[in-house]
Order: sequence, then structure tokens, then C-alpha cells
Amino acid sequence: MQNEKKRQVFRKILLLISFILFPITIFYLSPVLPLMGVTKGIINASLIIFGILFILSLFLGRLFCGWICPGGAVGDICSLIYEKNKKPVYWVKWVIWIIWICLYLYLLVLNNFNIGKIDFFFDIPSGISILNPQAIIIYYFFVTLIIILSFTVAKRGFCHYICWMAPFMIIGSKIRFLLKIPSLKLKVDKNKCISCGICNKVCPMSLDVQSMVLKENMNNVECILCGSCIDNCPKKVISYTFKS
Ligand code: SF4
Ligand code: SF4
Repeated sequence: MQNEKKRQVFRKILLLISFILFPITIFYLSPVLPLMGVTKGIINASLIIFGILFILSLFLGRLFCGWICPGGAVGDICSLIYEKNKKPVYWVKWVIWIIWICLYLYLLVLNNFNIGKIDFFFDIPSGISILNPQAIIIYYFFVTLIIILSFTVAKRGFCHYICWMAPFMIIGSKIRFLLKIPSLKLKVDKNKCISCGICNKVCPMSLDVQSMVLKENMNNVECILCGSCIDNCPKKVISYTFKS
């Protein structure tokens, strides 16, 4: 098997494992537990993970979304069944994220900035997320929402419209582009491009990759560095690079 194909198989296996583990991990990505935690002065697992994702994004962009995220995995599985090829809008998730941040800060002020106790397993005492009927309902609610959005609004619709983790990594990506931090990026040799459009078709984020190639600007904060365009391009126009 060619190395390119192997890479995509490996990525899909990682996403599948992440999806299988989603019932265990869902609360480690929760936007609600930080809000509950802040009222008790507690920094919980998901808040720590959001911070780690932000720091990693300064060097690895949104690699997490393309290779590990269980929500992204559900979206990609949906795309195997039916691809909703529609240009997504990006502002909805920002409205959700800003409301979430404001609410967090409001609760922090209400609690007199009394925060500092780290409890990684806050509200996940057994370490496993879905162990009671309420948690099972939450799990199926989110999986159903991801499926509905994937089939109705766009490929990986949840990533585009709802995801509260994406803004952390988008901000990190913007900073890395602005400050020219050495990081994982895509590079192109546009002269080799034959404008076949395959990269547009395979991009799980519905990006106009071909235009990005022709403009020789691959620094797009919606790119999740999945490598699908790299590995499906017949002329090997796109490749990974680690540079400023
Ligand atoms: S798949 Fe490759 S050759 Fe085809 S349009 Fe994209 S960059 Fe160009
Ligand atoms: S531009 Fe390429 S690497 Fe980025 S999300 Fe689209 S297919 Fe993946």
C-alpha cells in the first residue's frame, strides 16, 4: 500500500477508536462541566483539555480535529453514507463560544475569582462518562445532533456550526500565522496543479482547496490538517511542512 493511502487508513483508524471511546470520553470535552466547576472553585478536565488544545494549536493547528476528535469521527462516518456538499457558515459557533466564555467569566466573578482547585474527575467520579440514564441521554443527544447537522447543513456540520472547542484552536491557529510560529502547515507547488478538483471533493471541511493552491496560500484556520487533499492529489501538489 502506498504511504499516502496508509496515512489516511491510519487516520481513519484513530478516528474510529476515538468514536468507540466516545461514551467514556464525552464528559472530558464537556462545555457544561467547567461552568459547574467554576461555581465551586474547581478547574475540571475539560477546561484543562481546552487549554491544552489551545497551546497545541500554536504548533499543530487543528490537527486534533482531523485526527482524534470523536465528534469529527461521527461527522466523517456520516460523510461515508451521504456527503452534504454545501458551503458552511462559520459565525454560529462563535456566537455560542462567546456566550459560553461570557457565562464562564460571569460565574467566575460571582464566585469572587475563587478558583484554583484542580479536580480532573469532577462529576466523572468513575472516570467513565456515561454510567447513568441522564448521561446516556446527553451522549445520544450529541451524537444525533452531529448526525443531523452532517446530513443537513454541511460535511462536518457540527464542527462548523456548534463546536465549542474549535474556536480555541482557531484562535491558536490565527496567532501562529500572525506571529509566524514554526508549526505544521500545508505547502504547495502550484505549477504541478492540473485543476482536477479532487482536493475540493475530498476535503472534509468543504474548503475550496484548489483556489487555496492556486493562490499559494494554504493558511486557512478551518483546515484541520487531515491530509486528505495531500493523499488524494494525483500530482502530489500539496504536502505537509513544519515551518514558520
Ligand atoms: S487535487 Fe491536486 S492537481 Fe487536482 S486541483 Fe487539487 S491540487 Fe490541483
Ligand atoms: S485543506 Fe486538505 S488538510 Fe485541510 S481540511 Fe481540507 S483536505 Fe484536510
